Amino acid sequence: MASIFTKIISGEIPSYKIAEDENYFAFLDINPNAKGHTLVIPKREENKLFDLSKEEYDGLMSFSYRVAKAIEKTIPCKRVGMSVIGLEVPHVHVHLIPLNAMSDIQFIEKVKLSSEEFVALAEGISTNFQ
Ligand code: 5GP
Repeated sequence: MASIFTKIISGEIPSYKIAEDENYFAFLDINPNAKGHTLVIPKREENKLFDLSKEEYDGLMSFSYRVAKAIEKTIPCKRVGMSVIGLEVPHVHVHLIPLNAMSDIQFIEKVKLSSEEFVALAEGISTNFQ
């Protein structure tokens, strides 16, 4: 069965998209730790990060680098943090999270955003994506 993220790539499930290319896709996390919390995924469905081929892993990291640069330009923060967990959704995803405090990377405190705020964040980060 297709993962929830594969359904997001196909558009079957809506998302606040940031960027995509042939192999990778970036979109806002629906239950963010902080404003601008973004997920970057390979389009090919794979469960665990280190089950990706080295080439696909490198491609995912390169794409994540570009997304992180766009987040830094858009969201005021001390730095952009990166985490890969995957215990909830079995489709590899890199969390890119604007950090101002350690709690922003701990997946405990969440931020509630309106759909208008999600749209504005996605548009802002997308505009700065190069
Ligand atoms: P993990 O698998 O790394 O523990 O976390 C999965 C992440 O995916 C969570 O941060 C969760 O909020 C996010 N997530 C789960 N379902 C959806 C969804 O349907 N849309 C979006 N945009 N994010 C989701």
